[in-house]
Amino acid sequence: MTVERFPSEAGILALARQDLLAMPGYEPIEPVEIVAARLGVPEAEILKLDGNENAYGPSPRVTEALGRYAYYHIYPDPDQRELREAIGRHLSTDPSRIVVGAGADELLDLVARLFLLPGDVVVTAPPTFGMYAFEALLLDATLTPVPRREDFGLDMPALEATLAKGAKVLYLASPNNPTGNCMSKEDLERLLAYPTVVVVDEAYAEFSDQNFIPLVPQHQNLIVVRTFSKWAGLAGLRIGYGVFPTRLAKVLQKIKMPYNVSVAAYVGARASLADVDLLRERVQAIVAERDRLCRLLSEFNWLKPFPSEANFVLCNLRGKVAKSVQAALRQRGILVRYFDLPAVSNCLRITVGRPEQTDRLIAVLKEIGDGD
Ligand code: PMP
Repeated sequence: MTVERFPSEAGILALARQDLLAMPGYEPIEPVEIVAARLGVPEAEILKLDGNENAYGPSPRVTEALGRYAYYHIYPDPDQRELREAIGRHLSTDPSRIVVGAGADELLDLVARLFLLPGDVVVTAPPTFGMYAFEALLLDATLTPVPRREDFGLDMPALEATLAKGAKVLYLASPNNPTGNCMSKEDLERLLAYPTVVVVDEAYAEFSDQNFIPLVPQHQNLIVVRTFSKWAGLAGLRIGYGVFPTRLAKVLQKIKMPYNVSVAAYVGARASLADVDLLRERVQAIVAERDRLCRLLSEFNWLKPFPSEANFVLCNLRGKVAKSVQAALRQRGILVRYFDLPAVSNCLRITVGRPEQTDRLIAVLKEIGDGD
């Protein structure tokens, strides 16, 4: 029997989902080594304040545990039992409600894949984290953005009107990225009254006073997603989790890839949970530094920082072009994120670093300000 070779690359692409071929990609952040090489400086000199990572890195117990671990050649526990129990103790939550994944991103993806069919309505409150729209596109769902108010609060009448018309999934980040504000419990409870799956993304909750996990057992449609990327400094290891209604957790546990979390991420998360006091101290240091950064930024007459409950500060620029300031900072080895969306036009988002990093940023901003 002769096997015919497939005729062309265009032919193979014609078999793919055409909506995915047309879909815009997720905008990646440039890796530090590439920026350093372009500027001709050592990597250590780059001040990376564009990814909301933790400037203190992981607990020393993580690196030690990873060095000691002897079973990298063995597959991980697909049920992630010990880690789910440890997270359960950490949160005072039943481990049967917890599902663990490769970052909060994987939980967002699992939830989307469980609920969304082509055409289903997905509601977001932009400006917000881009992954929710990305998931809607990936699954050919209908994205219905309900923009936030000018003060970044939720537009409750518009959200309720949208949910009343029928929506499958509502994604809300609290604290929200990139605006840094939280939503109120009252607003969340109003939204939970609709027959919609409400996903509350608490990736930055540890930097705020907010915690909606205790509400999960009271609602059949509330999901809370968390991560070790921010408070525990494990962004590169990829480990996050969700807290779900128990039956939902069981279904997700069944449909996730069995080995979705590497043993390295697993060991890192367990070691972090064994060093919570140190990690909390660092979170406190970041919170104090966030408030100092906000104060220092507000002393510039061309910068207007917004209050934040996360580990970053969004800042509007007056009389200067944010994209040019971003480029000038980058030229001096400081990376920040630039936004030019309707409600956050001409804005920079700056991750909170260590005090000496804030000082370097402020000194460079002064130079930029004096330069014209
Ligand atoms: N949610 C929000 C609101 C985020 O900002 C981020 C990270 N940028 C994530 C989730 C993703 O977290 P993880 O690293 O755990 O995938």
